[in-house]
Amino acid sequence: MNVVMLGLPGAGKGTQSKRIELQFGLRHLSTGDLLRSEKQRGTPLGRAIAERIDSGNYVTDELVISLVAQALKVSAAKGYVFDGVPRTISQDRMLSDLLAQFNMQIDLAIELRVSREVARKRLSDRASIEGRTDDTAETIRHRLEVYEAETAPLIDHYRTQGILRTVDGRKTPDEVLELVREAVGEITGESSRG
Ligand code: AMP
Repeated sequence: MNVVMLGLPGAGKGTQSKRIELQFGLRHLSTGDLLRSEKQRGTPLGRAIAERIDSGNYVTDELVISLVAQALKVSAAKGYVFDGVPRTISQDRMLSDLLAQFNMQIDLAIELRVSREVARKRLSDRASIEGRTDDTAETIRHRLEVYEAETAPLIDHYRTQGILRTVDGRKTPDEVLELVREAVGEITGESSRG
């Protein structure tokens, strides 16, 4: 089974992805983490990535999908929880094509829904704890806008496919995980997609 996590930056995708990894034995694959580790290498590619991340803009679809392809090749897990990808409709197509090569598909999309105010507050709190270079006030504002423009259309896209489940992201991590379990049960129980 492959799960895609959707939601504003700060909705809790990373936190829940780690829990889903433990709960369901899926491999957590965060494109933000892959990009940040490339950034840290300080290569020309890493510097180009840094420029995009630190300004709150997306890197290209091709770059992010090539990193995912490399990760899938070495990992060979039975399924993944994709955290931060796809972020555009075209990434959804590219990821689906890639998964098809491994006889897999996107089975479930979980939208963690929080308001922009909650997202903004959580990101600025995270800034002081984790010190992420893209958690500054101005970049946060821009990232929320980019999400609405580029990523939010995926919600309708997955709803149309019948694989979207929306969860209230303001609840506690335990409560959210419980709702995620229900969503997984519905998908695995009601269809043969997995
Ligand atoms: P995240 O850790 O998911 O919040 O990602 C941090 C930053 O990495 C984003 O603001 C983007 O600049 C970049 N990024 C992560 N995933 C993607 C993606 N799928 N497509 C484009 N850019 C991405």
